[in-house]
Amino acid sequence: MPHSLATMSSEFELIAKFFTRACPSAQLGVGDDAALIAPTPGKELAISADMLVAGSHFLPDTDPVALGHKALAVNLSDLAAMGAVPRWVLLSLSLPQADEAWLAQFSGGFLALADEYGVELIGGDTTRGPLNLSVTILGEVEPGQALRRDAAQVGDEIWVSGELGGAALGLQHLLGERSLEPAESEACLARLHRPSPRVALGRKLIGVAHACIDISDGLLADLGHILERSSVGAEIHLASLPLAEAASKRLAQPEVMRAALAGGDDYELCFTAPAERAAAVMQAAAAVGVAVTRIGRIKHDAGIRLLGVEGRELPMQASGFDHFAGR
Ligand code: ADP
Ligand code: MG
Repeated sequence: MPHSLATMSSEFELIAKFFTRACPSAQLGVGDDAALIAPTPGKELAISADMLVAGSHFLPDTDPVALGHKALAVNLSDLAAMGAVPRWVLLSLSLPQADEAWLAQFSGGFLALADEYGVELIGGDTTRGPLNLSVTILGEVEPGQALRRDAAQVGDEIWVSGELGGAALGLQHLLGERSLEPAESEACLARLHRPSPRVALGRKLIGVAHACIDISDGLLADLGHILERSSVGAEIHLASLPLAEAASKRLAQPEVMRAALAGGDDYELCFTAPAERAAAVMQAAAAVGVAVTRIGRIKHDAGIRLLGVEGRELPMQASGFDHFAGR
């Protein structure tokens, strides 16, 4: 087995030591050729996979506890965006070496978040290769009720949860491209390394919101997916954007607004809902203790119009956008 970690230490020992847990809600968990689950009768399965690759999604020296947390968090975020309840997860790892100290921390971060969300690790794969973390998650949702990208309607209001821009500023700080004060960098790095998937909010938005997506690649790109799939456009009021404190303090710098609009890794939800459901949206958010902010409206005409403080339109190009000096 040239690609197996078993040549270094026992692959099976590693799996047994770090990734084998009781799976009370699965018929069969880690240890056989496949896991067995019995989905709740009458529910639809929501299934998603997300991969984190060293060098492109995280710096190779990232704290392994944070990495374990994030590998699962980004997948929980996908199910949050569908309004699904996360139930089971599979973890496929490609590891350069069988570093037990690293694995202990990584699995600790992963499993702590799994426990917090009641998700069971039921299987995966472990092999030798460049560091690569691949997670497949399964959840359940009421049939026909999932929050899809193609469900936005003209006239809907556009909302986002939490704050934007913190993770992008945290990454700039890490890369030495910007210097944040200690309290700011702590807050921004927490956003980058330990995102809070908005699972409870997604659940509450079922029957309230029309379309929903999680913001992994930046608001403009991800809202763009809703618009494309729903064949609509949008108008965004920049003055309404909920910005991380470190971002709102630095708005004189045009690239800060760029980070808030196009920076990735915030893992907030962006969703649309009819204007008459605004109170229901706020109630849903209050019930789960997450802030939500109305940032614009779905329009008939394709594309995103960015409006500055006086309602002035700011130029935006297909590849992104350019000037925010007018905000
Ligand atoms: P197979 O050779 O049938 O693919 P493996 O040796 O890859 O089986 O895996 C043995 C068992 O361990 C399987 O149940 C698999 O799902 C589980 N497993 C392997 N790697 C992981 C991991 N990183 N996390 C959780 N379960 C894992
Ligand atoms: Mg295998």
